[in-house]
Order: sequence, then C-alpha cells, then structure tokens
Amino acid sequence: MKAVRFHRHGGPEVLQYEEAPDPKPNAEEALVRVRACALNHLDLWARNGLPRVKIQLPHISGSDISGVVEWVPKEETQFKKGDEVIINPGVGCGHCDRCLTGRDDQCKDYDIIGYGFDGGYAELVKVRRTHLIRKPEGMSFEEAASFPLVFETAYHMLVTKARAGPRDTVLVLAANSGVGFAAVQIAKLLGAEVIATAGDAEKMERARKLGADHTINHYKQDLLGEVKELTGQQGVDVVIEHVGKATWESSLKALAKGGRLVTCGATTGAEVSTDLRYIYNRELTIYGSYMAGMGELLQVVELFSQGKLKTVVDSVYPLKKAAEAQTRMEASKHFGKIVLKV
Ligand SMILES: [Zn+2]
Repeated sequence: MKAVRFHRHGGPEVLQYEEAPDPKPNAEEALVRVRACALNHLDLWARNGLPRVKIQLPHISGSDISGVVEWVPKEETQFKKGDEVIINPGVGCGHCDRCLTGRDDQCKDYDIIGYGFDGGYAELVKVRRTHLIRKPEGMSFEEAASFPLVFETAYHMLVTKARAGPRDTVLVLAANSGVGFAAVQIAKLLGAEVIATAGDAEKMERARKLGADHTINHYKQDLLGEVKELTGQQGVDVVIEHVGKATWESSLKALAKGGRLVTCGATTGAEVSTDLRYIYNRELTIYGSYMAGMGELLQVVELFSQGKLKTVVDSVYPLKKAAEAQTRMEASKHFGKIVLKV
C-alpha cells in the first residue's frame, strides 16, 4: 500500500509518501480501506518526538479515520466488507475494570491509533473490530474523519468532567482549533453561555456562527479584563483549556468562585506555575482530560446523526501532501479540521 511515514523525528520534511507493507489483521481485528484521515496536534508531537514517549519507527500517523471495511474475520457479525465506517481512535486493553466500566480512557494500557501504533495516513489500516462505528448517514468521508477525536474530547471535558449546564458560563480558548470549535457547540447544546477566544476578526465571526455568545480576540484584547466585563466581575464557571503555558495563569484567574478548569493539552508549553491561593481561596477544581470512552463517542455520533452538531472541515489535501497539511496546522492558519483524502 501507499502510506506517509517518517523514519526519523523532525519537521514536516521527514514525512515520506512511499510504499509500505499492507497491515496484517488478526482474528480480533478488521482491515479498513482508508478514505479520509484528519490531522491532530498529536501527529505533530509524534513526528517531532517527545522526551518520554517511544514511537516505533518507521511510523504512520493519523488517529481520525473514515473508510470502507475491506476485510473482517468470519467471527464478526456486526460489520461486513463494504460497510462505511469511522473508527474509535482510543484503544484500551478491553478487559480491565476501567475498560469494562466504560472508562477505557483510564486503562493503564490505553493508547491511540496513529500514536502508539500505525494509523490512517495510508491506504489501509488494521483496527480492533470492536472499534468500528457505522458512519453517520449523509456525511462525506472527509466530514466523518474530522470529528471523532476532538468532539469526544470536548464531550468528555464538558459533560463528564465539568458537568456544564444552563446556569454556567463557559470560556473556550482558541475556538479555531478542533477541540475549540467542538467545545463551543457542545457547551451551547448544554444550554451554557459561551465566551470563545480567537485570533482574528474572521475566526471570531465563525465562532459566533457556531454558537459563541461572545468572542474575545486573544491577541489584541485583554482576556481577563474582557471576561470580568462580560460576567459582571464574577468570572466564568468553566474554562476549556488546551493552550497551556501561554494562557494557564489567566485561565485560572478567569474562573468564578467554585469554578472548574478542564485541561486536555498544552500546545504552547506544559510547564506552568500556579498560585495555590487561587485554588483554595476560590475553591477551584482542575480536571485533567484525555480522550474519552467508547460510550461517549457513541453519544457524539448520535448527536451528529440527529443534526445537533456540525463539524468544520478547514481544508482537504491529498495523502501525498501530508507535509503541506501539517505545515498549515503548525502555522495555526486553519479554522476547523485539516483532512487528508486517501
Ligand atoms: Zn483496560
């Protein structure tokens, strides 16, 4: 098969479009012919290399995959060759107490397709067959690939962790990012008042169209001052944080008493300092959040099927232009998901 792989860590130039061996599924797995694969920041981290994570080389990235079932073992009863599917990207062991109680994201062996093992920047991918999910009707392959990871993450943050509701004001950082535009919609669906930040007027306008009640330009405006102004000096009840170092301090200060901050990433750096007095004086709660369980992804798929959520595809590149696609993501030029068409 054709695939985009990297044989060493580095910039986008290490990505090579080349011939690679076809994956060989076992009886617990299915083979899927990839039709589209969306980019995530995880792809950039894997390509750049992380100090404490060992990536098997050569490596095929790509966690958000849509495609057509190519092969299933004879034991498989739910899916057959030709079915159009998306894939649950998070993989637990499947039999520990966490996995069996729907918290597979907390499994000690938890990993992600395209990160711990080969993913969807390829013509074929093998996946555990219990991870196949029927593609929502009427959705293109590009759209279907663009939502699982970021929407399940945003759902886990807002519903499972922060338990956001109609009486909450939710601050969503960087609404142009995948988690950002997903969180704006889910917070709105939960009835919350939504404040979103974005980097320019066009992105602010798009955030409003997706449901943000207020927008703040995070380059030109004082985030904290604007939040206080919009909330009658109270602060917000929930912050959806995935930016890290650049925003951590103001995210904590933006919280009202009893507020909840949920963090799922650190795109600008992971080392932050925290004034503990803010946490205890104001009774704040900080939640860590990493992916979601299969049950939560199925809720998200249902919301898409009901037309209550919509994905945003920023741009589509052919597989062989994966390096160009990653360069766009690294430059933060996008609004929504960048997708590879296979
Ligand atoms: Zn497990």
